[in-house]
Amino acid sequence: MADCGFDPKIGKKFWIQLSQVYKSLYLKILWYKVSLPEGWTSEKFYVSIITIAMRQKIIVGNWKMHGSCSFARSLMQDLLQGGSESVSAEMVVCPPAVYLQYVSEMIADSNLISLGAQNASEHPSGAYTGEISASMLKELGCRYVITGHSERRQYYGEADAEVARKSLAVSNQGMVPIACVGETLTERQNHQARAVVERQLDAVLNLFPADRLEKFAVAYEPVWAIGTGQVATPDQAQEVHEWIRLRLSEKNSESAQRCPILYGGSVNGANAASILAKSDIDGCLIGGASLKSDEFLKIYNEAGWRKFI
Ligand code: PEP
Repeated sequence: MADCGFDPKIGKKFWIQLSQVYKSLYLKILWYKVSLPEGWTSEKFYVSIITIAMRQKIIVGNWKMHGSCSFARSLMQDLLQGGSESVSAEMVVCPPAVYLQYVSEMIADSNLISLGAQNASEHPSGAYTGEISASMLKELGCRYVITGHSERRQYYGEADAEVARKSLAVSNQGMVPIACVGETLTERQNHQARAVVERQLDAVLNLFPADRLEKFAVAYEPVWAIGTGQVATPDQAQEVHEWIRLRLSEKNSESAQRCPILYGGSVNGANAASILAKSDIDGCLIGGASLKSDEFLKIYNEAGWRKFI
């Protein structure tokens, strides 16, 4: 084992996760064999299954309004040292806007880490004091932009329509919007979770060109789980991710299979593996745990098992 550089611990984790994913894929195959969606050949179906198996996991750190220059430097040094090119997951950091340039320079020579922003203006340019346009973020090297985070909806009154326009502005610059959706505790208790998530998602999808869905990501972040330590169970999260994937496939069935759907809400090094093992969970959006390099790297490593495929 040691001779070929194979880590037996990772090997065990890999086989457990692979068997979980394939168990769920196998059940889906059985189901689709009896009822393929209209217009689908079995060839198209099997290509989709392979696409699902190959979907790369993405681990996104949302630093929110935390840190300082020295904090950003030390966290990024740790992540650059701790990341590994043999881990197939993509690591993304979203620092506060004022540190984007700095972090962008730090990661310029590395393939390990991508840059994301926490917000963007819906306008391309103009007299919008305090705002930052998508083209400015693109110029700094951002690949992703979070849109419609619940804190922006809650504290800055961002409504569905504005989130949709921001997502389009981000996409117009060739970046990937990570559109956040998620219900409050009261909405969940009133059995409105699905209606709320679909309403928020539809607002974006109605504006978003169907042929750009390949460069679109969704983050399901139940508001009751954000920063509370109360993580959704893997089954709760998987159920919502399935609704989201279904909605995406109504817009563009092929791209929907490739579209990353991330889970966010109190993910940490201890609970990430069980969440990431679910077939429709393609990564995580991490708040608190993204500020601690060891915790964030642990989640990233949990997501990286696909390197063996
Ligand atoms: C978030 O803010 O997007 C988030 C998921 O936060 P936390 O991980 O701290 O719950």
